[in-house]
Amino acid sequence: MKILVVNAGSSSLKYQLINMETEAVVAKGTCERIGIAGGKLTHKSNGKEFVVERELPNHTVAIKLVLDELVDKEAGVIASMDEIDAVGHRVVASGEAFTKTTLVTDKVMELMDEIAELAPLHNPAAILGINACRAVMPNKKMALVFDTSFHATMPDYAHLYAIDYEDYKQYKVRRYGAHGTSHKFVAGAAAEYLKKKPEELKIITCHLGNGSSISAVKGGKCIDTSMGFTPLAGVPMGTRSGDIDVAAIDFLCNKKGMSMEEGLTYLNKKCGMLGVSGVSSDFRDLTAAKEAGNDRARLALDMFAYSCKKYVGAYMAALGGLDCIVFTAGVGENTPEVRKAVLSDMQAFGIELDENKNLFKNDGSIHDISAEGSRVRVLVIPTNEELVIARETAALV
Ligand code: ADP
Repeated sequence: MKILVVNAGSSSLKYQLINMETEAVVAKGTCERIGIAGGKLTHKSNGKEFVVERELPNHTVAIKLVLDELVDKEAGVIASMDEIDAVGHRVVASGEAFTKTTLVTDKVMELMDEIAELAPLHNPAAILGINACRAVMPNKKMALVFDTSFHATMPDYAHLYAIDYEDYKQYKVRRYGAHGTSHKFVAGAAAEYLKKKPEELKIITCHLGNGSSISAVKGGKCIDTSMGFTPLAGVPMGTRSGDIDVAAIDFLCNKKGMSMEEGLTYLNKKCGMLGVSGVSSDFRDLTAAKEAGNDRARLALDMFAYSCKKYVGAYMAALGGLDCIVFTAGVGENTPEVRKAVLSDMQAFGIELDENKNLFKNDGSIHDISAEGSRVRVLVIPTNEELVIARETAALV
């Protein structure tokens, strides 16, 4: 069985064709600059990279180009579109409308339109991608895989905000979380690595990248996560502030003459590591700047690690203990300084890092970086969101 995984953004479309027998990526690529001049497809297959420069006025033209490439004589990997058994679409927000992977139907797409306002930067783009695929492959089974689904198991006292309950009921304002497919993948992979059943484990998964979120996973189910109604909440991130007293935003908007919309753009794009350091949102740049003596880069990194540490502590309490901590995503997988800082001075909680093991070179495999005798196992697990989307789609169809 072959599954095409599609992740559509407003001006981009990423895809992977995955062979489910081997779980290997047969081909993958990205369409860029959809709807703006200078469209481009970069396609990788058979160990080679192919670049097609062509105007991509909309997502339908883009997906047509992808399918042409997949069956192309030179760049192709399949003889015809019939070899694609189903399509799995990544969707950022499900609201309360969907709690699990869902087959695409007209009715489902109506519901998708209704909840689009929950993630105005992401969901409308996903809808464009889904509709484009439906137009080009009308008979193909398609599944929607939501970033929020894994968090649907959070108990009410964890996912609700202490606002007027009637407002929650009417407007569905609550914590939804994000990166769910990644948290699910690494929590499952950790159990497999530890040769334990997911039901036996209490795990904290730290997805630390440009966007970061931390989840508490008990018995294979998410019981809490750091992102909220939107991905703005939780630990500070590349350009997002993370948790902040909302009254401070009103104060800042007044002082800086910003509307609420501008204030939210500010909090999403100009704060976090970038805002504090004044250097960059990229952890590689920040680590280099800190080493060169830049104190604001040091401060940004310290704030990040301290915030992550507080979530780890809080989630140990929420879980009632801890068996394993997992680091994943760009920063979690590649930045030993961050892992070390997050887990420093936590011996009292049974968490001990082996400093040498922590310096491993990322080779795409799982690394156990806990010290001999550490009660809590510390693992670094490369995430694979596309594989989760493909697995869920295959299971559904
Ligand atoms: P996104 O949230 O956009 O998916 P990623 O998970 O790719 O982000 O993480 C990007 C972050 O990972 C950047 O801050 C980058 O500095 C950091 N990083 C550190 N080392 C590496 C590396 N070797 N490869 C990729 N990203 C790295």
